[in-house]
Amino acid sequence: RATRGGEEVRGYAPSMGQIFLRRFQMVTQFRQALEEGQVSVHYQPKVSLPGKQVVGVEALVRWVHPEFGRINPDEFVPAVEAAGLVGALTSFVLDEALARVRRWLDEGIEISVAVNLSVRSLADEGFAAQVADALARYDVPARLLTFELTESAVMADPQRALPILGELHELGIELAVDDFGTGYSSLAYLRRLPVDQVKIDKSFVFGMGTDLGDLAVVRSIVELGHSLGLSVVAEGVEDDASRDQLEAMGCDVAQGYLISRPLAEDRLEAWLQARTA
Ligand code: C2E
Ligand code: CA
Ligand code: CA
Ligand code: CA
Repeated sequence: RATRGGEEVRGYAPSMGQIFLRRFQMVTQFRQALEEGQVSVHYQPKVSLPGKQVVGVEALVRWVHPEFGRINPDEFVPAVEAAGLVGALTSFVLDEALARVRRWLDEGIEISVAVNLSVRSLADEGFAAQVADALARYDVPARLLTFELTESAVMADPQRALPILGELHELGIELAVDDFGTGYSSLAYLRRLPVDQVKIDKSFVFGMGTDLGDLAVVRSIVELGHSLGLSVVAEGVEDDASRDQLEAMGCDVAQGYLISRPLAEDRLEAWLQARTA
């Protein structure tokens, strides 16, 4: 019986070998997946508080693998990063995102798009030039592009990351610190970075209705952000109560399932139309 149980467990939980093999396949197949259209970009709206105006969308990558089905970016992005392939991912997402903004501009709509940056991009000296080239190709003003980066990405190698961030900022691109509050050195280094926005990590936003500690963290990030002249975005807004609390605190922008889940391009268009109708 114990053996049978053991086998059953093994049937559900992948072994180390299976995890390794899957990771290996993801890495070796990623470029082909990009070429074959298995990878796409979904967009999650961000709305202003209290106005509820759509101020931007965040581009979030999706991979539907022919064998594994949907693979979570939390799983494949780190694998792709570790294999040194994240440049291909970033330029794919950036192109898709700028093409989307271009089509909105053609319709007379200004919505900015945020793209997540990996730590590796911040070590690539040609990165800012590559971004400038993409903006020119799509004829999109830099102010409609935001890059989101985690503090751990910046702190991994600040000597290399800071000049690249400076160049991006010079171009007029907005920079946001993602998952704010989860790192170690938040307060001290924030002043040194050329950033425009902080995004409060969703773990604190989830907890703010029930946990006074989380509430205090959210409140202090809003105050700190504002005292540094930054715009403050809350991610993971799932219910009206947190939305209302954030609004009362003066948080500038909300993003989360309450407003919308990340949507494929056609569904995003329908969502936007339904709101303005
Ligand atoms: P992130 O940048 O912190 O993105 C926010 C994640 O929270 C997204 O997960 C989003 O779908 C999810 N989310 C948004 N609102 C809510 C909510 O109200 N409740 C809950 N429970 N979740 C919410 P997703 O799309 O699975 O992405 C996971 C992570 O993968 C992202 O975290 C980001 O670090 C990374 N990622 C996604 N797309 C890209 C990309 O194009 N490039 C890079 N380098 N990383 C990416
Ligand atoms: Ca993000
Ligand atoms: Ca985040
Ligand atoms: Ca995250």
